[in-house]
Amino acid sequence: MTIAIVGGGLGGLALARVLHVHGIDAVVYERDSSRGARGQGGMLDLHSGTGQRALREAGLIDQFHAIARREGQDMRLLEPDGTLLLQEDTPDDAPLERPEVDRADLRDLLLDSLPEHAVRWGHALDSAGDGLLRFADGGSATYDLLVGADGADSRVRALLTDARPVHTGQNAVELGIPDIDRTHPDLAAMVGRGNYWVLGNGQSLSAQRNGDGRVRVYLSFYNTPGDWFATSGIPFGDPAAARMRLIDLLTGWDPRITALIAACDDTIVPRSIATLPVGLTWPSRPGVTLLGDAAHLMPPVGQGANMALLDGALLGLALAAHPDDFPAAVEEYEREMFVRAGAAGRQSAHVQEILTSPDASRKMLAFFQPG
Ligand SMILES: Cc1cc2nc3c(=O)[nH]c(=O)nc-3n(C[C@H](O)[C@H](O)[C@H](O)COP(=O)(O)OP(=O)(O)OC[C@H]3O[C@@H](n4cnc5c(N)ncnc54)[C@H](O)[C@@H]3O)c2cc1C
Repeated sequence: MTIAIVGGGLGGLALARVLHVHGIDAVVYERDSSRGARGQGGMLDLHSGTGQRALREAGLIDQFHAIARREGQDMRLLEPDGTLLLQEDTPDDAPLERPEVDRADLRDLLLDSLPEHAVRWGHALDSAGDGLLRFADGGSATYDLLVGADGADSRVRALLTDARPVHTGQNAVELGIPDIDRTHPDLAAMVGRGNYWVLGNGQSLSAQRNGDGRVRVYLSFYNTPGDWFATSGIPFGDPAAARMRLIDLLTGWDPRITALIAACDDTIVPRSIATLPVGLTWPSRPGVTLLGDAAHLMPPVGQGANMALLDGALLGLALAAHPDDFPAAVEEYEREMFVRAGAAGRQSAHVQEILTSPDASRKMLAFFQPG
């Protein structure tokens, strides 16, 4: 039986790894031309019950602990006028509940744990069906079980459901300050070792320290239309002018906070945030399934990668438990995944609602410190 996994993101690789641990071969078809073809983005916090559980099933938890950053759990929550609402510093002996890890390091960990030819780079799926994968370069391959791990804009999804991602009203811009300790020590001290969060009226800034000394800065604009980038007046082709425009958009913000934007380099990435309907399901079909964002794209509030990893691990375990009955394995996996991802999707939607509300910072404080 040939298992084809389309997409070599965290979910697809976790599946390939757990299958490999159980002596089952699979082929991962990945669109990127090589592992270094594209930046993997910033940090992820992996939760002990989901993302870390997946790595335990994959036999990689010790290697994960070696690259995880305990102090990345530090958090500061502020209002746009600079009022500090919450500061949490992680003690040296704190449990690794939600340590941060660089996405690229985590992906490398998974890639290095697979046999050399398990990932076929430069294979962009164009369409699939009836046991045949057709790639953009004209090539093809056969499968008995197809797993769509191909992310938010999944091509495999259409085989199972008509659902499509819908814009959430959030438009985000990613920027970054390289080597912050050397280039801007004052801002480095302000951001601290982990997450620095400023929530305003329909706008937010989050700055996050990465393992390589870069601080990634995400600016989000909520309750904005899907074509907002075209109408916002942000000149993405001129990064210096774009930074000035972004600062202008944050009316009334403390200049010490907006200094983070002024200090960024010329990397500037617009991201329009979309989600699938919360609680999406489909009738199980024997030869195809989905995992990760392809199955349950959620707002980016800390659950998506954790769910993708656990999906991959649990699907791998189900297939290993039913090596002669993949349809039963797929059904078992989907039954659990629908419930788990539905719950995570509802929680993410709740956090997203807080972020979009006029008094987001106070509500978030109450979320972190209930009662
Ligand atoms: C700004 C931002 C911040 C986030 N922060 C967090 C966080 O802190 N914690 C968290 O848990 N989650 C976070 N998320 C969500 C998280 O990134 C995703 O949920 C997670 O990456 C999903 O993993 P995946 O393997 O399903 O998909 P992806 O990581 O998207 O991987 C899909 C893979 O499929 C490949 N692919 C796509 N199309 C094709 C094709 N046609 N043919 C072949 N290959 C294809 C892609 O190249 C990619 O390698 C964040 C998301 C965003 C946008």
